[in-house]
This record gives sequence, C-alpha cells and structure tokens, in this order.
Amino acid sequence: MTATAPPLIEVRNLVKHFPITSGIILQRQVGAVKAVDDVSFDVRSGETLGLVGETGCGKSTTARLIVRLLEPTSGTVTFEGEDVTGRSGASLKALRREMQMIFQDPYSSLNPRKTVGSIIAEPFVIHGLLSGEGERKRRVQQLMDRVGLNPEHYNRYPHEFSGGQRQRIGVARAIALEPKLLVADEPVSALDVSIQAQVLNLLRELQREMGLTLIFIAHDLSVVRHMCDRVAVMYLGKIAELGDNDALYGFPRHPYTGALLSAVPVPDPETGRRDRQLLSGDVPSPANPPQACRFHTRCPKAQEVCSTEEPLLEDKGTGTVAACHFPLTRDEVTLRLPVALTEPPDVPVAGSERA
Ligand code: SF4
Repeated sequence: MTATAPPLIEVRNLVKHFPITSGIILQRQVGAVKAVDDVSFDVRSGETLGLVGETGCGKSTTARLIVRLLEPTSGTVTFEGEDVTGRSGASLKALRREMQMIFQDPYSSLNPRKTVGSIIAEPFVIHGLLSGEGERKRRVQQLMDRVGLNPEHYNRYPHEFSGGQRQRIGVARAIALEPKLLVADEPVSALDVSIQAQVLNLLRELQREMGLTLIFIAHDLSVVRHMCDRVAVMYLGKIAELGDNDALYGFPRHPYTGALLSAVPVPDPETGRRDRQLLSGDVPSPANPPQACRFHTRCPKAQEVCSTEEPLLEDKGTGTVAACHFPLTRDEVTLRLPVALTEPPDVPVAGSERA
C-alpha cells in the first residue's frame, strides 16, 4: 500500500444518534446517545486502518455504519467513489459481497447447531453461488486449509474447536466471497494471549495475498501497532487524532493518544517505563458529552478555552491531524511514553494451532 493509493472508503460527517425514549405506550424521545458525532476519514485501497479507543468511543458503531449494518443519522459513506448510504435491497446485497466483517466473540458469532462446513458455505448460499454440493464443499475445504483449519473437520461443530480455531472459522466465512474490505471488530480480544499473535499473523497474510483493505478495531494500541498503516484514535464519538503509524506512535499530539500510549504495558517496567500518565475519572456518558473539547473533563492540559471552543481536527505538522488547542510537545512525549514504543515493534510469533 502506498500513501497515494486511492481511497476505497470515504466517510464524511458521519453521525449516529440512538434515541433515548420514555413512556411505555407513547414512547417520546427524551434524548439521544451520540455514539458517532461528525466523523470523517478515508480508508485507502490496500491499507490497514486502526480504529482505537476505550469502550463506548464509537469505533464499533462507526464500523457497522460503514458496512451498512446500521443506518446513519446523517453523513455519507462512499465506496469506490459511489455514495452507498442509501442503498437497499439487491443493491445493498451486492455491496455486502464487497464488505465483510469479523466479530469480536468467536463463541457467539457462530451458530452452534450448524457444522463448520455449512457455516463457511453460508455466503455462497445467500448469494446463490456454487450451487453444486461437491463444488461448494471443495471451495469450503480450500478456505479451511487457507486459514489453518483441517479440511477433514468439515462436518464438526463449533464447540469442537478452540477459541482461536473458531475465530479462523469466522475469518474463512468472511473471505469466502473475496471481499475488497474486511472489518475486524476486536478480533483477538476474546482470545488467550498465546493465540492472539497467530490470528493477527493470519489476517496480515491474507491482507497481503488478497490485497484486502482492512479496518482493524481494537482498544489495545500495542496490537494496532503491529497491524496498521494508519491509526484513528476515537474519544466519545469523535476522532481525536489520526495519522500514519510511525508518526502517531513516535510523536502523538493529542493528550488522549498520549495517555493511551503511556498505558501500554512494556516488557521490562524498570527500563521501559517513563512517567506513566493515568487518566482521571470515567468516560462521560455519550448521552450527555462535555461541551467543546469532549476530553476536557479528563485532560491534564485542559484550559478554559477547551470547555468553550471545540478544537478542529488540524494538521499538526508532525504527521498526524489532531483536535486539540494545546497539543503535546516533544518534551512531554519523551517524558511520558515508554521507551519500548519508540523502538521498532516486535513481530508476533508465527505459529499454528491446526486442529
Ligand atoms: Fe486537552 Fe484542551 Fe486539547 Fe482538549 S483541547 S485535548 S482539553 S488541551
């Protein structure tokens, strides 16, 4: 992927408000959860974009809006230059061939009453492809082999597989139709640490081989560093900072990015840890977010203007765009971030857990 690759996805001013209603019979709207609030970014063809932030920041909602599992309140999503926000029926079904999703929980995202063969074959059935049973079975077994599952286990049920293997089943189902965009929503956070690297490696291999564009959602910045070309950090439904991987990890400008990075565990706390910055307080409710800069109630650099004027997402001249009136300085970053983050990332250990 090059920095000049054309955008596959263009998200513009995307908003998703979930209404809060009151009353049992006459349900009146009394407010709204502002899950995504005026978010804009591009995803370039062939790149991996990380969407990062704490629980409730809007990253999963943004992903579901992109793949049209949710309808936006306003804003547009453009795919290959065409606005797909209003698509429905056959046109939406055709779009779904191009965009697939891998879900967080490999335990609940697979139907326990179906065999693995029929789960992976679902996309072919839905789209009326490979109608011959033998042909479909052959293709499903190829997919099983490709994701590191034993094709002879075609007739087994999900409960007969480990967590990592179940996530591989989800991956096989997602790539069955050779989509252009794959959205992975915290694909390894429900897995044992020892298995996580294997699934991440698989996704990276598939991305390279198939030329996939990948949106990778995580709350762990260390995982995203291994996976992504660019990273967007979200806070309370808005993008706080977005930029190339090296720039964002090397010199984060938004205090929230700095705080997330300083919380990443390091292998040797004695040598790798600097002045860790802990965020005070909980994330405010997205039903009633703070005015102006949404981070001002927790930000260690907040000043009066932060609660009266919303900062715009601007180029800070160091490789990222950030929404902050008083971005971090080089000295503040050097003081706070673990040494480990300024060094090249470890390559996860390749391995196999073939059933
Ligand atoms: Fe902190 Fe102010 Fe920047 Fe918001 S605008 S992140 S409150 S310094």
